[in-house]
Amino acid sequence: MPIFQSSTFAFEDADQGAARFSGKDSGYKYTRIANPTNAALECCIAELEGGAAGLATATGMSAISTVFMTFLGAGKHIVSTGSVYGPTRTLLENELTRFGVESTFVDTSDVKNIKAAIKGNTELIYIETPANPTLSITDIAAVAKIAKEAGALLVVDNTFCSPLLQKPIKLGADIVLHSMTKFINGHSDVVAGMLVASTLELRNKMHKVICQMGGTIDPHQAWLVLRGVKTLALRVKAAQASAMRLAEELEKHPKIEWVKYPGLKSHPQYELAKKQMSGPGAMISFELKGGVKAGKTVMDSVSLSTLAVSLGGIESLIQHPASMTHASMGPKARAEAGISDGLVRFSVGCEDYDDIKADLWQALDKI
Ligand SMILES: *Cc1c(COP(=O)(O)O)cnc(C)c1O
Repeated sequence: MPIFQSSTFAFEDADQGAARFSGKDSGYKYTRIANPTNAALECCIAELEGGAAGLATATGMSAISTVFMTFLGAGKHIVSTGSVYGPTRTLLENELTRFGVESTFVDTSDVKNIKAAIKGNTELIYIETPANPTLSITDIAAVAKIAKEAGALLVVDNTFCSPLLQKPIKLGADIVLHSMTKFINGHSDVVAGMLVASTLELRNKMHKVICQMGGTIDPHQAWLVLRGVKTLALRVKAAQASAMRLAEELEKHPKIEWVKYPGLKSHPQYELAKKQMSGPGAMISFELKGGVKAGKTVMDSVSLSTLAVSLGGIESLIQHPASMTHASMGPKARAEAGISDGLVRFSVGCEDYDDIKADLWQALDKI
């Protein structure tokens, strides 16, 4: 796919230009509205997710803010997973409240909590499964049923799984979104997002909003993601195989308090994970005996893995949510969402398994 590195598109004549703006001619006009490279990426991810159409965005947060700006407004209400990606929660709590949007955060791994939170003005149910960074799992099919009964739309952040491991639209979700910065691109060299809608109508509603809000992807960025997604299956399978082994061995390590990984029988939603995901993924959370201090020692002692936020790249990344990605939530919201101060998040990369393990084990020895 070539990069259509062009902000604008020439018209044959004035009539064609007019026809493109009136919608009679669906040709290209201007890259904020549509671009051939971006369109190729949108088709690709929509097809992988089993959706009707996609909408590529500048970042994952741009995809999330576009959904909120399209379907929420003054007097509208959203029910969301408590332990969502930190900025998703702060966007709702700190920014959208200024425009009269109400939000309720619950532990969606128990769907009864969602039912109890729904009100007459609930427009959206927003879930992240597995959630970040607790790796709690929510039953997508069960929530889709609840959403339908309530007349609300179900939106799923599928970033942690990628379409390779989980296809929420097939389970009844209305909209799926991604931070393509993570697994889909997979090389830690691009920030990008994607919205996939189950119907063309929903896609068109969001397209109208993003054209005004301006969060469109850049064609060069889209081209890089098209390159990255070609190896999605190879990368995710390799990282997942290492993650499974690492989780099992970490669970037996004397310096580890607990490990949370959807592939472990000790995971509270292990059976549900097996049912709705085609694999447990490459993200592991664990708590060290010795809490924050021990966690810092490990993070400062790794050398193959990189101490950095983000995830889903070919490089293993380690980070501390309470002081990094989820710092903006504040201690009370973190405690409610189950994000303990000693929780360490590990994004398993595609390095050789023995190297990943040796690096982490020497860091654990430093405690
Ligand atoms: C990173 C991330 C986002 C935000 O994506 P950006 O590309 O950084 O804007 C949203 N949801 C999840 C689960 C993420 O990991």
